[in-house]
Amino acid sequence: MDTAERVLAYGGGWLDRAGPLRTDPTRLSALLTESTTVVLPIWRDRSLVDGDGPVRLTAERASLVRSAAGETVFLGLDGDVAVFAVDLSALTEQAAAEMAGARRSVDVRALVGRLEPGDAAVQAYARGLLHWHRQQRYCGTCGAPAVSDGGGHVRTCTGGECGRLLFPRIEPAIIVLVEAPGASGRCLLARHAGAPEDAYSTLAGFVEVGESLEDAVRREMAEEAGVTVTHVTYQGSQAWPFPAGLMVGFRATATSDEVRVDGEELLEARWFTRAELRDRVASGRTLGRVDAIDHRLLEDWLAEG
Ligand SMILES: [Zn+2]
Repeated sequence: MDTAERVLAYGGGWLDRAGPLRTDPTRLSALLTESTTVVLPIWRDRSLVDGDGPVRLTAERASLVRSAAGETVFLGLDGDVAVFAVDLSALTEQAAAEMAGARRSVDVRALVGRLEPGDAAVQAYARGLLHWHRQQRYCGTCGAPAVSDGGGHVRTCTGGECGRLLFPRIEPAIIVLVEAPGASGRCLLARHAGAPEDAYSTLAGFVEVGESLEDAVRREMAEEAGVTVTHVTYQGSQAWPFPAGLMVGFRATATSDEVRVDGEELLEARWFTRAELRDRVASGRTLGRVDAIDHRLLEDWLAEG
C-alpha cells in the first residue's frame, strides 16, 4: 500500500455514507426501526462504553433512549446495516450511561489502540457531527432556531424570510515536517507552550481565510519558527473531529538553518538528525501522538535514511 492509501486513525471510509438516503426521510424513519439497525450513543463528545468498548444500541433500545435525547443523525450503511448516532448530552453522565446500558464515558482518543480502526473512525465521526449540532442551534444570520435536516447533515434556519441552510463546519490545520537545506538529513521539531520539558513535535497551525494550504504552511513556519520554506509537498490528511479538525500533512524544506521561535506558541525549535530521533524512540519517547498524522510524518521520514 503506498503512502496515500495507508489509513490513519479516525478516517478510512469504513461506512458507506449513503448520501442519497439523507434526502429520503421516509426511508430513514423506516431504517430507524429495523431490527438490524445500530445506534451509537454519544455523551458530550465522549463514547459510552461497557467492558468491551463503545455500546451499540439496537433500534428497539434506541427508540426508548431517543425520547430523552437530543439529535439522532444518520451516519451511513455498514453493508446492509444502517448506523445512526444519538446525542445524550442533555443528561448527566450517569443517566446517559444507564440509559444506554453503558458503564461510563470515555474519549475515543483514549480507546483508539484497542478499537478496530473502523469502530474508532465511526465513533469520531459520530462525535464530531453531534458536536456541530450542539454548537449550531441557531442561525448566525438571523438568530432564529435551526433544525436538523437531511439525516443530520444540514440544519435549516426556521426564520421565515431567511431559511438559510447551515452545513457542518470543518477547520483545516496544516502540520509540517520541515527538513534542513542540503543533504544533511535533519528535521525541525519544536517544543510547544504548555508541553512537557522534553516533548518535541512537528509544527502546525490553522489555515486562515483567503489562504491555500501551501500559503498556510509558509506563513506558519515563518511566524512560529522564523523559517522560510520551499518545496511544500502534500503528504496526506487525517480526520480530526475533536471537535472539527482536518489535519493536512506536508513536507517542506527550509532555506537556511536559522531558527527563531516566537516564544508564544513555540518555546524552542531545533534540528534533529535521524540518529537522534531513533535514540529518543529507543529511550521510550514516542514520535508525536501515535494516533496522529505527525507520528506518520516522522516515521516516514525516519524510514528514508
Ligand atoms: Zn436565518
